[in-house]
Amino acid sequence: MGQDRAKGDKGEGVPRRGLLVATGVTVAAGVSALAFREELGRLWWQIPGVDKQRTEGEVDQPGARWVAASAANLRLADRPADYEIDKIVVHVTQGSYATAIKVFRDPAHAAAAHYVIRARDGEITQMARELDVAFHAGNRSYNEHSVGIEHEGFVDRPSSFTKAMYESSARLAADICGRYDIPIDREHIVGHNEVPGATHTDPGPHWDWDRYMELIRRAASRPKSTTAAER
Ligand SMILES: [Zn+2]
Repeated sequence: MGQDRAKGDKGEGVPRRGLLVATGVTVAAGVSALAFREELGRLWWQIPGVDKQRTEGEVDQPGARWVAASAANLRLADRPADYEIDKIVVHVTQGSYATAIKVFRDPAHAAAAHYVIRARDGEITQMARELDVAFHAGNRSYNEHSVGIEHEGFVDRPSSFTKAMYESSARLAADICGRYDIPIDREHIVGHNEVPGATHTDPGPHWDWDRYMELIRRAASRPKSTTAAER
């Protein structure tokens, strides 16, 4: 399950915003108010670490449905321009799919993952853009450099981990690795329990890593997922 964010995780964006505005003011000195606004708008695009233009409902993973996590449970970023993405963190929800989605939408929860996968059929809900830092690993650096995938189920219930869920997650993981050139190995695809300082045990002893890694390798050797438009 997603975890309390690391200390100091929140508020990272504040100094950057301050810097951006200051830069905009300097550049725009002596120009009209309209030109100033245009200049600021242009700079907003150029300076790494600020928001890329986003379209509501847009997903990174073709076929995923979009349900936005609360903005309080993530930090807007511009990955991989500002933070390289080099890891995937595997989680188990310790609750139902619906509950995981509900708590990630709750601003008081202080955690969210990028993806939640349903056990029954492998449906994928994306809740944070891969651009953004979601608070799921309980470790600031890991949050900044990883994509978090939650799997519906319980660590002590092996029947949670269905074939449909493994296959769907493997396809997703293979596509994420493809997007950011992440090596498909256990150094880069880790369990929440393997994150330094982790107090969580997920995905637990029943998560079949050999099977999962093999499925990811197989998925990676097939063409990546495509959107309807691309087909
Ligand atoms: Zn977890």
